[in-house]
Amino acid sequence: MNTAIIERLANDGRLDRIFIGGEWVLPAGQARSAVIDPSTEESVAEIALGNAQDVATAVAAARRALATWSVSSPQSRAALLDRVHALILERAEAFAQAISQEMGCAISVARAAQVPIAAEHVRVARDLAGSYAFVTHRGNTAIMREAIGVCGLITPWNWPLYQITAKVGPALAAGCTVVLKPSELSPLSAFLFAELMHDAGIPAGVFNLVNGEGPEVGAALATHTDVDMISITGSTRAGVLVAQAAAPTVKRVAQELGGKSPNVILPDADFARAIPAAVAAGLRNVGQSCSAPTRMIVPRERLADVERIACEAASALVVGDPRLQQTTHGPVANRAQFNRVQEMIGVGIAEGARLVCGGPGRPQGVERGYYVRPTLFSDVQPQMRIAQEEIFGPVLAIIPYDSVDEAVAIANGTVYGLGAHVQGQDLAAARAVAARIRSGQVHINNPPWSPDAPFGGYKRSGNGREYGVEGLEEYLETKAILGYLDGPAPSAA
Ligand code: NAD
Repeated sequence: MNTAIIERLANDGRLDRIFIGGEWVLPAGQARSAVIDPSTEESVAEIALGNAQDVATAVAAARRALATWSVSSPQSRAALLDRVHALILERAEAFAQAISQEMGCAISVARAAQVPIAAEHVRVARDLAGSYAFVTHRGNTAIMREAIGVCGLITPWNWPLYQITAKVGPALAAGCTVVLKPSELSPLSAFLFAELMHDAGIPAGVFNLVNGEGPEVGAALATHTDVDMISITGSTRAGVLVAQAAAPTVKRVAQELGGKSPNVILPDADFARAIPAAVAAGLRNVGQSCSAPTRMIVPRERLADVERIACEAASALVVGDPRLQQTTHGPVANRAQFNRVQEMIGVGIAEGARLVCGGPGRPQGVERGYYVRPTLFSDVQPQMRIAQEEIFGPVLAIIPYDSVDEAVAIANGTVYGLGAHVQGQDLAAARAVAARIRSGQVHINNPPWSPDAPFGGYKRSGNGREYGVEGLEEYLETKAILGYLDGPAPSAA
């Protein structure tokens, strides 16, 4: 176990503190929470949790800082974000180690994906701060895009740093001030991030960190009268609770929630490439990605081929100690996740889906740690629970179809609409299917991830968009000043 980062954070008193108004302060909250290393099931640290009083203190600090930050020049905000970006890259190894320890991500994946793409959100925010037209004109009217105000940002544990930067980056670029509540299950990378913000020279109160549990700290942010916006990434369950709590104060609520994304393999796809790619995408980050394409929707006449190729791909994954460079898949992130995934594997078997790879329990020879066998079910019926509910683990459902129309209906046949994939050699046919899928993103033939492509959900996958210019605009209000210029109003004859 690499304990150097935790020891350093402990020695510097971080684990007992929260970050408010530019200082590390002891919280009013008395509760503490253990950080469990999912590869050993052992507690590696204990952190102090804030409470509603701490939220009030942090919101007051953010409100004070807003007066100056919201009218600072976009160029100065870009300069700050540039320093943040550089420091993430400089401290990449420490972030990768912290993420690997707090949620079990294989170190190779933490280094290659978790940290670099987190940095990308800050780079995009920096570039937008410097280039976005915060003021435009229509006739004699000036249209101002202004910071919405104080933002409460609530993030999950699955891509811990990435989810933080996807919110903090654009919020700061927009001129907002923020109170971040990361997942209480993955707080280590958030401590490192708060230190980094301080070192980058963030003005006091612009960025605040309050650790704590959702129903306490998250709910306090959602209900607070002086918070203008809440952005939550998490389960649909938590997103609904936040929206309900936020409703009486009519604050803006951005929700990035759950998914059950489809991967439609068209009959003309190159199966030898498409199926391994589908398995890799569905099981990336041990299936703990909101937009993971966990439903492989495949032509019935090719079902046997699909099963064989998919099984080979799943069997080639290296499940094991996340610290080892050769590991591709570590454990799932926590006991609740482990239990949930095991339960859903049992549900799949009980529903009569055909297990073609993996199955219940830990991988052979493994006795501790929240390790799960990469598991594939075939002949899955679209209405089965394993085809409808988010499992958030390494479990894929292979669902056969008889016509492309049926494939589209299956793809759209859940309450979610976050990500989707279409694979086929005829690009026009793939585009036509992509156009019919109701989700915030569709990927044709596995393009690389893009920090500029807007990301977010249709249906119960959420409201609002992150990434790129749409991600910045989430944090802006629109003010029209009529008569700002000489001349006719936009609608004047
Ligand atoms: P979660 O819903 O348990 O927790 C997410 C965050 O919400 C945590 O910080 C938690 O403390 C907080 N929270 C929980 N209850 C709350 C409440 N009542 N009020 C305020 N805050 C509350 O989710 P998780 O287990 O951390 O993450 C997994 C879920 O997140 C999955 O459903 C996944 O699909 C979703 N997710 C969505 C996206 C996306 O962009 N759409 C990205 C990643 C994860």
